[in-house]
Amino acid sequence: MRLAWGPQDEAFRAELVAFLDEHTPPEARAGADFMGEYSGDEIVPQWLRDWQATLFDHGWMIPGYPPELGGRNCTPVQTLIYLETMAERRVPRSGHFPGYAIVTPSLLEYGDDAQRALAPAAARGDTVWCIGMSEPDAGSDLAGLKTRAELRGDHFVVNGQKVWTSYAQIADKCFCYVRTDPAAPKHKGISVLIIDMDSPGIEVRPLTHITRKADFAEVFFTDVVVPRENLVGPLNGGWAITQGSLAHERAGLWVEGVARFEQTVGALVELARRTGRDRDPVARRRIAAAYELATSLRALGYKGFASYAQGSSAPEHSYMKLATSEAGKAAFELGMELCGAYGAVTDPDRGQEAGRWVTSFFVSFANTIAGGSSEIQRNIVAQRVLGLPRG
Ligand SMILES: Cc1cc2nc3c(=O)[nH]c(=O)nc-3n(C[C@H](O)[C@H](O)[C@H](O)COP(=O)(O)OP(=O)(O)OC[C@H]3O[C@@H](n4cnc5c(N)ncnc54)[C@H](O)[C@@H]3O)c2cc1C
Repeated sequence: MRLAWGPQDEAFRAELVAFLDEHTPPEARAGADFMGEYSGDEIVPQWLRDWQATLFDHGWMIPGYPPELGGRNCTPVQTLIYLETMAERRVPRSGHFPGYAIVTPSLLEYGDDAQRALAPAAARGDTVWCIGMSEPDAGSDLAGLKTRAELRGDHFVVNGQKVWTSYAQIADKCFCYVRTDPAAPKHKGISVLIIDMDSPGIEVRPLTHITRKADFAEVFFTDVVVPRENLVGPLNGGWAITQGSLAHERAGLWVEGVARFEQTVGALVELARRTGRDRDPVARRRIAAAYELATSLRALGYKGFASYAQGSSAPEHSYMKLATSEAGKAAFELGMELCGAYGAVTDPDRGQEAGRWVTSFFVSFANTIAGGSSEIQRNIVAQRVLGLPRG
């Protein structure tokens, strides 16, 4: 067994490292906090928008894509190297993921020519997209969505409500899941529409996180007129599009979660040393257990990647999102405990480490919910990986 990268892959890494050394903006070098959040009030700071465009223009935005889509046609192994290098350096690719990570591949796979032409601007970040899936009564059970789109000749009329819509307040367009056939079984009556966010009848009400950031929103649609040509894929064929994601990145999506968890474990070790808790046997054991978990997760990630690269499925990966998000939450909680009595205080004057651990602890809950909650992930592991019957 060869446990090393080949010369072409090392050359790819060297080119990436040279590019990052030269071009990474100072704001990104300064580093995000643990959860990848940058300070400041802007939802997506201008420097981060410029950085995404720079990555795209140099073929480093989505390296597995061709140059006209911000890539360089690289192999899956090189994509893994790319994702690892970006995560190790904690360099972000974008401040708004839906456009490049979800909308771009979906448009390329399901869109007509005019819709595919929207993909480069989505990947470069010139157009900001939001995803309208969740509704007040449809989250985990997405197929229960009720936002209604009625086809009237050459246009649809949309009425309903979305919630938890990330970036809705700055988005140019919404990739919106709507019910077009209320009489059909629920998975079969859903379609996808591209909706311009400045259309009359759209109201966006920002929702504020516990950290005081407001980067998602409720979106209300009242008699919103959408041209028929904005339908993506077949009418009532929207369910197939829900799975849209970057196929060549899917096998490496665990990398960022694992790298972030490893960085948190490293910070726990430093914190224990600073606070003198490194001599506390219980704290030592818990940090060691976190380290062991991080190492196991990385090994499991590579195992799954190796299966994928050889053309097999990688069931391990259904576990990675669940494992890294839950492990991160537990690690931040441990950090708060190591800080002592002020560990749960966010006030920068009183909070230990300027509230860094508690703030990250708050933010870490989002990762256990967004993109499928931990309970739903456990159901998937139970049924699809372990072959257990539906509960
Ligand atoms: C930071 C963040 C960003 C988000 N961004 C977007 C976005 O851009 N666009 C968008 O459309 N949505 C977005 N969401 C919404 C997200 O997809 C939903 O919150 C998620 O799917 C859960 O749905 P829900 O909140 O309606 O909870 P529910 O589905 O109502 O679940 C409530 C609780 O019940 C549990 N549960 C539900 N069903 C089962 C089951 N079958 N078995 C066991 N337990 C179950 C859940 O795990 C959860 O604990 C975002 C969420 C977060 C936190």
